[in-house]
Amino acid sequence: MNKRNFIKTLGIGGLAMANPLLPVSAAEKVASVAGKAATVSHRVWINPDHKEKYEDLVKKYAGYKKAGILDIMFEADSEQHFKAAKANGIKAHRWMWTMNRGEKDLLASHPEWYAKNRKGESCADHPPYVDYYRWLCPSKPEVVNYLKSQVEQILSKDYVDGIHLDYVRFCDVILPVNLWDHYGIDQSKELPEYDFCYCDTCCSGYKEKYGVDPKDIQHPDQSPSWRKYRYDRVTNVVNNLAAVAKSHKKAITAAVFPTPEIAKRIVRQDWTNWPLTAVCPMIYHGFYREKIVWIGDAVAEGVKALHGAFPLYAGLFMPDFHNNYDDFREAVRLAVSNGAAGVSIFGDVTPEVLTVLKGSLA
Ligand SMILES: [Zn+2]
Repeated sequence: MNKRNFIKTLGIGGLAMANPLLPVSAAEKVASVAGKAATVSHRVWINPDHKEKYEDLVKKYAGYKKAGILDIMFEADSEQHFKAAKANGIKAHRWMWTMNRGEKDLLASHPEWYAKNRKGESCADHPPYVDYYRWLCPSKPEVVNYLKSQVEQILSKDYVDGIHLDYVRFCDVILPVNLWDHYGIDQSKELPEYDFCYCDTCCSGYKEKYGVDPKDIQHPDQSPSWRKYRYDRVTNVVNNLAAVAKSHKKAITAAVFPTPEIAKRIVRQDWTNWPLTAVCPMIYHGFYREKIVWIGDAVAEGVKALHGAFPLYAGLFMPDFHNNYDDFREAVRLAVSNGAAGVSIFGDVTPEVLTVLKGSLA
């Protein structure tokens, strides 16, 4: 598996009014939150190729727009990509790695900001699973301030329409099941080397409230309060970044794990309680050894849990479709019919992909 596949899986960005499966009140709420008529639109994650020319990009993104793609999340800054998207009326968001931050200067200057596992090992010098897994501790005020300054910098650019948070969570305590063989790990239970964060800041913060050091809990995986404490640490980061976005009057969205239940269980991510503009759960069926039909189940679970707070775009992983565009069409149909505002594509945006997306616009 290549790095990018791993990234988005581990990750690794309507409406419902016309959806007969939803009660009318919920459908109205979702549609009104989206602030537009009950129409479907789509999104795409792109790592911008800096060699592409502006004129060519304008043409390419015109094709995207015709297919109903109204938002693009760019993994790097690129003025020509952002502006070419915007020239077509597409919103251009900057996709940012949030808690997983392996930049060399940060590793060198602040190794103490990195998360520690239950064995006391730090992501600064003992990255779990792969070398680029360098997770920051969400409890440290210095970390929150650092991330706020990053978002501030990004959103200060006039051609950036929003911030898109990726890796906004703890390290995976449990990997999606399809990766277990790949790494030769059986994760039927939470293993201490993948369980974060047990740094002094996290442990003392928890102890202050609950009177016990998490390191002294006999079965920490079974402690509801220790779990909730960690959900809330990540949520606190998101709240802070959302305040920055709000001050710029710009969007804040996130790529999250596929369902509220999975997200909390394997990466301590409580995304239904975040103040987002929209969410893109990575409903990557292949990584969970699921069939296409599960995509509809996952969307329904997320939409129900959100209670109309903000729209959900079902993240679809194109390599899992193996160029079967009938399956892809069915996945888009399932997403929309279960209340998604549209889908968010990770992978090659081929002419066939655009045709399917266009066909989904009601
Ligand atoms: Zn910590």
